[in-house]
Amino acid sequence: HADSAMYLAKESGKNNFRYYTQELSRNIQHRLDIDMALRNALQNNELFMVFQPQYKLKTKTIHSAEALVRWKNPKLGNVSPDKFIPVAEENGTIIPLGYFVFEESCKAFKQMQKAGIAIEYIAVNVSSLQFKERNLLDNFLKIANKYDVKPSEIEIEITERFIMEHTVSNMNILQNFRDHGFKISIDDFGTGYSSMSYLKQLPTDTIKIDKSFVDDIANGSSDNVIIEAIIALSKTLGYMIVAEGIETQEQETFLAQANCDLGQGYLFSKPITCKEIIEKFRN
Ligand code: C2E
Ligand code: MG
Ligand code: MG
Ligand code: MG
Repeated sequence: HADSAMYLAKESGKNNFRYYTQELSRNIQHRLDIDMALRNALQNNELFMVFQPQYKLKTKTIHSAEALVRWKNPKLGNVSPDKFIPVAEENGTIIPLGYFVFEESCKAFKQMQKAGIAIEYIAVNVSSLQFKERNLLDNFLKIANKYDVKPSEIEIEITERFIMEHTVSNMNILQNFRDHGFKISIDDFGTGYSSMSYLKQLPTDTIKIDKSFVDDIANGSSDNVIIEAIIALSKTLGYMIVAEGIETQEQETFLAQANCDLGQGYLFSKPITCKEIIEKFRN
């Protein structure tokens, strides 16, 4: 990254060079600030969870929810997970953070269930680095059990990239989680390089179509054909299919007629607290 920024800077002249190097060092400093602050974020109770409902497109009722971590630091303010998760993966804090996320998700799911919300499962993002922990499965089973949550009530979201790295061993890891009852979902599907023919070998229950495809629906571009094909094939293979980042009525209508099972996005709801989920869906 640094190299290409420098290169671009040189291309566009000396003043720009100064501008880009300043910008670059600001970015590096910001990353260092995040790195340092993240190491104390858990102990200082700066992390918390929000939940975004996943709706059945047929009935427009809640089916499940995705757990998303939030971080509010006194000095840095609200930092987006797109920014701090990569740093957490780099400095190792993703391990304790990952357990925090999992435990809070189990706790919240139980609360929603007890409040009578008809929610089938909670989807939890798990970083590929967490799978390097030898005891991850055992620890997850223990935590779920502590909150009286069944593994089948938890869906583990992994990225397509994880599937593509070290294919065979990662496939075995996922299969092992499935054998113990956890659901698996492939997040951001379509952004990696796995081919359609590969779909049938995936040890997964759910495919999540990346927002970038959903964004393009409005254009009536050729991507629409790709979405329809992914949905049709996924359904034939018996997978549940979720579209992420639905923002417009037009997108929802298209996805519903294409037979997509679930939808998630600002059109329905932003990520909200457990308490807000209960208020919103309790009848
Ligand atoms: P993701 O797992 O693909 O999550 C979906 C992201 O899209 C979330 O961003 C969500 O707030 C956002 N989103 C949902 N609907 C819409 C919409 O209609 N419009 C727009 N513009 N955005 C929408 P968020 O919460 O900022 O998370 C970003 C990424 O950070 C996640 O992408 C995931 O990769 C990672 N992440 C978030 N929470 C966790 C976590 O607890 N653990 C791990 N390992 N990663 C997490
Ligand atoms: Mg996700
Ligand atoms: Mg996603
Ligand atoms: Mg995404």
